[in-house]
Amino acid sequence: MDAIVIGAGPNGLAAAIELARCGRRVRIYEANPTVGGGARSAELTLPGFIHDICSAVHPLTAGSAFFSTLPLARYGLEFIHSPIALAHPFDDGTAAILDRSIQTTSENLGRDGAAYRDLMTPLMERWQDLADDILGPPRFPKHPFLAARFGIHAIRSAKSFAESRFKEDKTRALFAGMAAHSFLSLDQTATAAFGLVLGLLGHVYGWPIPKGGAQNIANALAAHFKDLGGEIVTNQRVESLSDLPAAKAILCDLTPRQVLHIAGGSLPSGFRRKLSRYRYGPAAFKLDWALSAPVPWRSPECAKAATVHIAGSFAEILTSEKLANSGEHADKPYIILSQPTLFDPSRAPLGKHTLWAYCHVPNGSQVDMTEKIENQIERFAPGFRDCILARSVMTPAHFEQHNANLVGGDINGGSQHLAQMFTRPTARMYSTPLEGLYICSSSTPPGGGVHGLCGYHAARLALRKSLK
Ligand SMILES: Cc1cc2nc3c(=O)[nH]c(=O)nc-3n(C[C@H](O)[C@H](O)[C@H](O)COP(=O)(O)OP(=O)(O)OC[C@H]3O[C@@H](n4cnc5c(N)ncnc54)[C@H](O)[C@@H]3O)c2cc1C
Repeated sequence: MDAIVIGAGPNGLAAAIELARCGRRVRIYEANPTVGGGARSAELTLPGFIHDICSAVHPLTAGSAFFSTLPLARYGLEFIHSPIALAHPFDDGTAAILDRSIQTTSENLGRDGAAYRDLMTPLMERWQDLADDILGPPRFPKHPFLAARFGIHAIRSAKSFAESRFKEDKTRALFAGMAAHSFLSLDQTATAAFGLVLGLLGHVYGWPIPKGGAQNIANALAAHFKDLGGEIVTNQRVESLSDLPAAKAILCDLTPRQVLHIAGGSLPSGFRRKLSRYRYGPAAFKLDWALSAPVPWRSPECAKAATVHIAGSFAEILTSEKLANSGEHADKPYIILSQPTLFDPSRAPLGKHTLWAYCHVPNGSQVDMTEKIENQIERFAPGFRDCILARSVMTPAHFEQHNANLVGGDINGGSQHLAQMFTRPTARMYSTPLEGLYICSSSTPPGGGVHGLCGYHAARLALRKSLK
């Protein structure tokens, strides 16, 4: 055996594929009965209703510089684009939108149209060069002027950036809603980066959903890996490195806490200390519903978007994210919602629908947010509750039971604040002091999301150092 990968999440699968396509013999051990980690789907509510357990919306997958080199369509992966990528409704019945077209998006932003166009157009035109520099391990940029142009905005907090760049509360709310995917308080340095990157991805690739559910991303990756000669052993939790057969490289699709669990005794104490100081971020509290009818949105734009951000005003999002980051719970939480069956009827019985939504809560929270989330949806879609046939609740504890990587319900493999954004989980990033042991999960750059880039970069390093 040349290499073993622990964990069949998107990054574990990506690492394994990169090694296998370079001719190495690779085996993956996965604790769960199915592959996919944070990219899985299941009947969480009623028979025939397929829900995404974790990831639902995939701009990072469609835009991944690694996945785009793989023949995933041959293995059945198909992306569906809703007419509008994202809608953000307001109490007055209107909605801001993120459209593939910058022109269409900006036409809807009132006095901010020109400011938005002037911000996004030059960055979008050079997206490929920019992505090269920002979505990977930190290094001196290949395109320094472009990186500086992006960096001068990205380094700011989303709050101060939105306040200085935009005049309309609705534009600020649209931008803050995207930046809030960071799980950070939006007055923190560099949170503007998340709003910019997600907005740019929307213009370049859209925010597509995979036909049939996120499981089909994982299934396509796994099928491709097997065709390259790879082996996957499911239902096999690795408890210690000493359980594993001999291999020249071991790549862990794990966060620092599990790396410490399986390899702690073999790691030098200084490195163990660094891993134990690694910070996890706030958690997700998630609901999935089986619905008898589509969500009755007040704003017609919302029915055209696979993703809807719910929070109302800019101030509400700032408050919600600040509270989740300071151990408290918002009464009106910011919610990320996905309504796939409006555009992919294959996931529910004829005429019926699924709905996926989560809000941010403090790490390890035990507070039930069901009513608050449903109140928020009802606020912008009166009559929503009448459509509910069944509901599944996933608390931070459920997430961690379902996947040990979701520590305290943190879905990004660790907080993505500036100090942990580039040099995660330590300044060594993918490597460890133990020869042949690597970390390839979203606890390495470029962090959370289904893009496989952490796995790809870890595999490239292992190929150079251990698998020549
Ligand atoms: C609720 C939620 C919503 C999300 N929404 C989105 C979204 O819309 N778009 C997006 O791009 N991303 C989203 N994400 C984030 C995305 O799912 C993760 O960033 C991504 O899955 C990380 O991939 P990974 O391979 O690093 O780790 P994971 O996907 O967590 O995979 C790790 C794998 O390792 C296995 N494992 C753990 N310990 C062991 C062990 N000891 N032995 C063997 N196997 C082990 C786990 O079972 C798991 O399969 C979401 C996540 C959650 C939880």
